Amino acid sequence: MKRYIMVFDAGTTSCRTILFDRSGCEVCAAQKEFTQYYPQPGWVEHDPSEIWSTQMGTALEAMLKADASAADIAAIGITNQRETTVVWERETGMPVCPAIVWQCRRTADRCDALKKDAACPPIREITGLLPDPYFSATKLAWILDHHENLRERAQTGKICFGTVDSWLLYKLTGGSVHRTDVSNASRTMLFNIHTLDWDDSLLRYFRIPREMMPQVCDSSCVFGASDPSLLGGVIPICGIAGDQQAALFGQLCFAPGSVKNTYGTGAFLLMNTGTQPVRSHKGLLTTVAWRIDGIPTYALEGSVFVAGAVVQWLRDEMGLLRTAEESEELALSVPDTNGAYFVPAFTGLGAPYWDAYARGTIVGLTRGVNRKHIVRAALEAIAYQTEKVLSAMREDACVNMSALKADGGASANRFLMQFQADILQMEVRCPKSVETTARGAAYLAGLGCGFFSSLQDLESLALPEDIFSPTMAQEDVQIRLDGWDRAVRRAKNWAR
Ligand code: ADP
Repeated sequence: MKRYIMVFDAGTTSCRTILFDRSGCEVCAAQKEFTQYYPQPGWVEHDPSEIWSTQMGTALEAMLKADASAADIAAIGITNQRETTVVWERETGMPVCPAIVWQCRRTADRCDALKKDAACPPIREITGLLPDPYFSATKLAWILDHHENLRERAQTGKICFGTVDSWLLYKLTGGSVHRTDVSNASRTMLFNIHTLDWDDSLLRYFRIPREMMPQVCDSSCVFGASDPSLLGGVIPICGIAGDQQAALFGQLCFAPGSVKNTYGTGAFLLMNTGTQPVRSHKGLLTTVAWRIDGIPTYALEGSVFVAGAVVQWLRDEMGLLRTAEESEELALSVPDTNGAYFVPAFTGLGAPYWDAYARGTIVGLTRGVNRKHIVRAALEAIAYQTEKVLSAMREDACVNMSALKADGGASANRFLMQFQADILQMEVRCPKSVETTARGAAYLAGLGCGFFSSLQDLESLALPEDIFSPTMAQEDVQIRLDGWDRAVRRAKNWAR
């Protein structure tokens, strides 16, 4: 009897491998960081070969820790940093160049230009995204433009493009499978989210040969089988999803209107909108959450650039905290912020404001404001920004939400979670296990191989949660939200 699902969680700074058992519990994990390259200001690269070897290292380590052989593993699931662009030789599996990471801004000028280019296909309508260097399309075009003959070789099928999931799948199958899933494809800015296929008008516009694109599959299906020489036996790969979509799945957000927020460095909110894409009028992205048995589920996505990072800033740059955890105790030691608001717009403001020129601002200072109030204002800002994205989602999708599912490093902060529930006037639920991203990939892979039988089966595995219920009066919430809006007005447009 197969005992485990093995998940590869290929993040931005580290690769992890986690084994899950039939009850959905984590059995063991192994993690290793890999090198970040910053060859020029604003550029970020990874070595695809190092990602692969790091991932394999953690897989072998996790199997050893669990005393598991390939025969014990029912399937492998993959979840990954999204948008990061890898190009390799089909024949040898050798990368053509470093991977261009999602954070890399080298194609910012190209994106500015295409916003003004009348010949550019309607990116928003086709892909659900806004033109931005973040997505894979201009990164891939950059690679093709900067390597002699690469485009011609790609046209003859000799070159492969993939996001990190495709790259790992290719290596894991000994170079026999070149596929991806819909959730990763929908972050490339080359994928038509209505037809669920690569978009010919965009491929033509960016001069990207279709021959180099991976085949797009369901998120839960048999993608291929591992090369037996790698893990001591053949293991099918049965689930793939980008990290944020995997977290949505791992949080069991299967019903339209269900929503999760990952409170990490930034905050990533995704809301399930059901089987139809919802066009945002509030600056959110439309994306594919997953596809199972050929049926797509869509999501609205909004990102807050600075969430947990504001706590890091208070600790590392201002020296107001010794540890991130200390922020909770300090915030709870005062009844309010004493009138102060902190807008942590260090790199501009993301959804729903989209103001690249906004900058960090603290307003409302009086003689009585102290360190504790500033720390509290910083944590409150994470909750206010989340509320703004959720309001935008509510308006765009015209749905009622009943609870917010929370995960990520800063969701450990109980003050923040309670304040969030108060400001949203809605329950906030935090699973006691933090591995929601890997769990989502495990569930997708488990469904794909019959280890788990259905979504209902997965719901029955629901983990214990900490539940935070709103206690603040509605009038008090409104006063605070009005204060936040006034503070944001002061922060906007500063650096123009
Ligand atoms: P990422 O995946 O983006 O690296 P994590 O999910 O690991 O992020 O979360 C790390 C972030 O959470 C950091 O920015 C850190 O400041 C913040 N953080 C961690 N613990 C706490 C806490 N107890 N209170 C507030 N913020 C926290």
